[in-house]
Amino acid sequence: MIKKYFSFIVFILLSTSVFCGTAQRPKNIILLIGDGMGIPLVTASVLSMSNDQFKKIPTVGLINTTAADKLVTDSAAGATALSTGYKTNNGMIGICPDGKILTNIVEIAIKNKKSTGIVATSSVTNATPAAFLSKVESRKSEFDIAAQILNSKVDFLAGAGTDFFLPKELGGKREDGKNYVDSMKAKGYEYLSDTSKASTIIAQKKFFGLFGRSALSQGNQRSFTLGHLTKSAIQLLSKNRKGFFLMVEGSQMDWAADKNEKDYLFAEQRDFNSAIEEALNFAKKDKNTLVVVLGDHDTGSLGISSQDKETGELDVVWATRYHTANFVGMFSFGPSSNQFGGIQENSDVGKKLIRLIK
Ligand SMILES: [Zn+2]
Repeated sequence: MIKKYFSFIVFILLSTSVFCGTAQRPKNIILLIGDGMGIPLVTASVLSMSNDQFKKIPTVGLINTTAADKLVTDSAAGATALSTGYKTNNGMIGICPDGKILTNIVEIAIKNKKSTGIVATSSVTNATPAAFLSKVESRKSEFDIAAQILNSKVDFLAGAGTDFFLPKELGGKREDGKNYVDSMKAKGYEYLSDTSKASTIIAQKKFFGLFGRSALSQGNQRSFTLGHLTKSAIQLLSKNRKGFFLMVEGSQMDWAADKNEKDYLFAEQRDFNSAIEEALNFAKKDKNTLVVVLGDHDTGSLGISSQDKETGELDVVWATRYHTANFVGMFSFGPSSNQFGGIQENSDVGKKLIRLIK
C-alpha cells in the first residue's frame, strides 16, 4: 500500500514537472550580448557602476566560448554558435566549417510567426549582428551581408552601417552604386538616421535605423543610449501576440578592451547596462519573457587591482590586447532561465534558445 502511494506521489511530481516545463516556455526571448564582456568586466560593473544590473539577475552560468578550429574564438564564430547552435571556424558566419549553411534563430522565430529585432552599437553588418541576419564565408564581406539583410525580414534593426548600405556618391562605401537604404524603404521600412531622434523612436511599422557609418559614437559621447534603442525595439516587437526574439549587442566593449582603454570600456559597459535594465523592466512586467545576458568571449583579461576609496574608481591591469579563452558569464531571468546555469558550450546555449523560440 505504501509502495503504491509512493508511486502515485512520484507520478504526480513527474507530471507536474513536465507540465510546468511546458507552461514555462517563454513567449519572448531577449538575448543581450556584451562583445568581449569577460567576467572581470561584470565584476567592474558590480563593484563600481551605479546602474549595475547583474546583481538583479538570479541565475548565473559560465560559457566555454571556444571555436571549432581555435581555442580562442573571434566574434564571428562566437555569434554563430549562439545564433545557430553550432560551432564554426573563426571568421565564418552562419556556415559550418564543411560549408553547410545553417539556420539561425531569427529565421526560426519568423517561421514561428514571431517578430524579430537586432540592435547593435557597431555596424549591423559587423560579425555579431551579422550572425543573426546572414551567412557568409568571411566576416569581412560586409557589403554582401548588407545585401542579405535586405531579405532578412527582421522587424526592428538599429545600429550603424551607412558605409555598407549607401553608394560612394551618397557618402557610403558601396562601389556597385546600389542604395540599400532606398531598397529597405521600398520593402516597407521606416528609416531614420537622425541621431537627435534616436532616444525617442516610436516605430509604427518595420524600422531601420542607421546612426553612424560603421559604429555608433562611444557610449558617453552620444545623446542616446543602447537602453533607448532597446526600449524602442521592445515597444514595436511586443505588439505581436505570438511573441518576439530580440538580440541586443553592446559591440564596443571589445574594441575598448582591444585598445586597453579603461574609460572607454567602462562607458560602454554602463551603456550596455542601460539595455539590460530595459530588458529586465519589460520582463518583470510581462512575466513571459526570458532575458539572457552573456559575453561572446573575454577580451583583454583585465585584472581589477585597486579602488579609490573616495571616487570608487577602479584601477586595472591588462593581460593582453586580444581575446582570451577565459570562460564568460551568463545571466538569465524569466521562464526557463533555470536551463542557463552551470558550465555550458556556447553552441548549447544557442541550441537551447532555438528550442525555446520554436
Ligand atoms: Zn566578440
